[in-house]
Amino acid sequence: MERYDVIVIGAGNGGLAAACTVLNAGKSCLVCEKHNIPGGFATSFVRGRFEFEASLHEFNGIGTPEHPGSTRELFMKLGVADKIEWIQLKDAYHLISKEEGYDFVMPFGYEEFAKANNMLDPDGEKYIREFFALCEEIRNAMAYIGEMKGKPDPNVMAERFPNYLACGSYSVNEAFEALGYPKAIVDNLNTYWCYLGADGDSMSFLHYANMVYSYFSKGAAIPKHRSHELSLAFEERIHELGGEIWFNSEVARILTDENGHVRGVRLKDGREIASRHVIANCSPHLVYGRMMDPEAVPERARRLTNFRKFAGRGFTVFLGLNKTAEELGLKDHNYFIYDTSNNMKQYASMKELFNSAAQATVCLNNADPDCSPAGTCIVYMTTLFTDDVWSGVREEDYFKTKNEIAASMIRRFEEATGVNLHDHIEEIAVATPQTYARYCGHPQGVIYGYESQYYDGLMNRIQMVEEDRFVPGLRIAGGYGERLLGYPSSYKSGVNEAGRTLRDMAREDG
Ligand SMILES: Cc1cc2nc3c(=O)[nH]c(=O)nc-3n(C[C@H](O)[C@H](O)[C@H](O)COP(=O)(O)OP(=O)(O)OC[C@H]3O[C@@H](n4cnc5c(N)ncnc54)[C@H](O)[C@@H]3O)c2cc1C
Repeated sequence: MERYDVIVIGAGNGGLAAACTVLNAGKSCLVCEKHNIPGGFATSFVRGRFEFEASLHEFNGIGTPEHPGSTRELFMKLGVADKIEWIQLKDAYHLISKEEGYDFVMPFGYEEFAKANNMLDPDGEKYIREFFALCEEIRNAMAYIGEMKGKPDPNVMAERFPNYLACGSYSVNEAFEALGYPKAIVDNLNTYWCYLGADGDSMSFLHYANMVYSYFSKGAAIPKHRSHELSLAFEERIHELGGEIWFNSEVARILTDENGHVRGVRLKDGREIASRHVIANCSPHLVYGRMMDPEAVPERARRLTNFRKFAGRGFTVFLGLNKTAEELGLKDHNYFIYDTSNNMKQYASMKELFNSAAQATVCLNNADPDCSPAGTCIVYMTTLFTDDVWSGVREEDYFKTKNEIAASMIRRFEEATGVNLHDHIEEIAVATPQTYARYCGHPQGVIYGYESQYYDGLMNRIQMVEEDRFVPGLRIAGGYGERLLGYPSSYKSGVNEAGRTLRDMAREDG
């Protein structure tokens, strides 16, 4: 039987980053990926003359070479930074919300964003500066907790981070109510809510504030050659470091020994590969529910996994258009089209099949004018379903349903912006929750892992990391990990879980 120090299941962001970390430490590593390409959601696909980005709207935390963000620093450490060409995005977003009549563009940059809020309220800038000061305290507190490996000194916390402690258990709505900002300022700060996908009454304020601050202080970027460029950079690095990636190699079983410790994996074709350490870049629902013998799954793992709530199930319409962005009147890269800025109402409406009140749309050419052939442009629009509504769609209704939803999203965008898209569609592709479920194997077509709730969000999980490990030798990395969804989080989760695996190995080796 072949043997590796570590086996990684899945070559998504978390799996690729984990493999690089293990290999950088001089250990042997095999990545088993069920597809024939790396990346999971971080990929691209071609229809006709167009190469579409499969997922990424914007990547936060990269910063610039002069002022690197934490993810760029991570990429430098992993040895992939110089393999990726970034394009910095100019503006944060164009928000159009029907109920409140909002129609404005917000810039990136601490100063620029703060000042732009004066158009919403005479004291807008003051509120944003106050909010950012709170975010900075939250970030510093998180850094301190990280340095203390999740066991901070309570006296230091009380002295240095009193506001962090005060809002630690707050939901987004509770925190904004306590802060007492005017509605327009809160609505504007809530614009990114759909990137975490939980409603304001449940969403962890600490996590949300941290993300919003990262976007505005460091800006956002996209890789020049779609997110597939990131995945190829990692694949190349893994090979440079002597690692192996086996494509078309679905893992069917994680094997354990008589003491419940991991002993290897079994592929779908029956081959077994030995290792004392497995990092799974997949949903814990699959890991504990399908990939392990039921007797090998501790009761606590089953309970905690079932307790967690799936975040949004994805739905995306990809359009290759036969006019330029300028000809169509598309000026911005990133549009949020909302029926209302009340995210409780949005979240509730997204439980229904035909009533998605929120969509995030990208016109890629406004970041990278050369991303499609001359005279054309690429637009893609994503919405989420906040419940498993697609399980009720009968097989015979599948195409009709997805086409109707796609048409309604295009219509919504056209009505909100006054831009005619439908007369210029040369290529169209539609990804439903079924597509995402088939592609990455996530239950119900979930694209965002588990919801970040105030009682089970980023901070709670970081502090509970060791308690969240149930099977000796098995760790879970990626969008379902302790840092939750998103590009930066899934890479960081991979690095962190690999670091913990290396420590487990060192402990076991005595
Ligand atoms: C439409 C869309 C838009 C998004 N927009 C953004 C955005 O703008 N910004 C942002 O930060 N994030 C965004 N995200 C989220 C982001 O893409 C994900 O959070 C991130 O890519 C998840 O990475 P992961 O490590 O969890 O791996 P995944 O991408 O989930 O990959 C898991 C991998 O494991 C493989 N696998 C699963 N089971 C097995 C098995 N049994 N054996 C072998 N291989 C297996 C799968 O094939 C896959 O390659 C978006 C996602 C989507 C779908």
